[in-house]
Amino acid sequence: MSIEIYINGEFFPKEEAKVSVFDHGLLYGDGVFEGTRAYNGRVFKFDEHIDRLYDSAKAINLTIPMSKEEMKEAHLETLRRNKLTDAYIRTVITRGPGDLGLDPRKCSRPSVIIIADRITLYPQEFYENGLRLITVPTRRNMAETVNPMIKSLNYLNNILAKIEANLAGVPEAIMLNQEGYVAECTGDNIFIIKGKTLLTPASVHGALKGITRGVAMELAARIGLEVREELLTRYDLYVADESFLTGTAAEVIPVVEIDGRKIGTGTPGPYTRQLVKLYREKAMEEGTPIYE
Ligand code: PMP
Repeated sequence: MSIEIYINGEFFPKEEAKVSVFDHGLLYGDGVFEGTRAYNGRVFKFDEHIDRLYDSAKAINLTIPMSKEEMKEAHLETLRRNKLTDAYIRTVITRGPGDLGLDPRKCSRPSVIIIADRITLYPQEFYENGLRLITVPTRRNMAETVNPMIKSLNYLNNILAKIEANLAGVPEAIMLNQEGYVAECTGDNIFIIKGKTLLTPASVHGALKGITRGVAMELAARIGLEVREELLTRYDLYVADESFLTGTAAEVIPVVEIDGRKIGTGTPGPYTRQLVKLYREKAMEEGTPIYE
């Protein structure tokens, strides 16, 4: 069954859902996006995702032509149209159609696109056995260039790192920042556990303020871990007891090897396994109802 896609207030079947080749989202990567999940008929952390979308837009001086309430309703409507209860929602706001020059003032109206579809999950094997990752040569953008806090359509920095991971035959890449400290992965945040402390890079170190990251930090505190944002080197990764990644699509996913070094015992650690489970339970229980 073909899905229906929201573009600027109208719905189009997938095959007919199109934007102009003059859209600066396409010509220049000028725009922002968001990725949200619905579980069990509810949108998880809806306000957090909508707030981040508007913050990303504001940071690039892009005014989204609708209120947050209207935006939420458009998301719910897209889910209802497609009769979805469990979904991945991709929201894209581009600068809109302009001319061939890069000046955003030539773009009269942003394009608002909402795509809700069934999610393709990572293989269950990853959650049971953990990921083997590498750090890659491509460094995370500096905050003074394209700030990693902005979920912009300019993901080439992350894609270059992903290509390096692909070439090395691993599912994700760990990116370091310009100073060589750990920043994040191409589409996920990274955590380590040392003793009873959970550590993750701060956004000033080049990490997106992941929404899953925030939930993982809350859950970790609840199970007795001390939670801290800290500058991390590759050494800290290598000597960690446990490690995991977080992301809306990936949820909480264990890491068992980094640059050929086994993390802890080389199997998903006990805190990590607890967090994988607690996160899923929370996501299944909470959220904004789609059908009420
Ligand atoms: N870092 C990057 C670069 C990402 O693209 C994402 C996914 N949006 C994340 C981290 C994880 O963020 P979240 O938990 O909000 O999905």
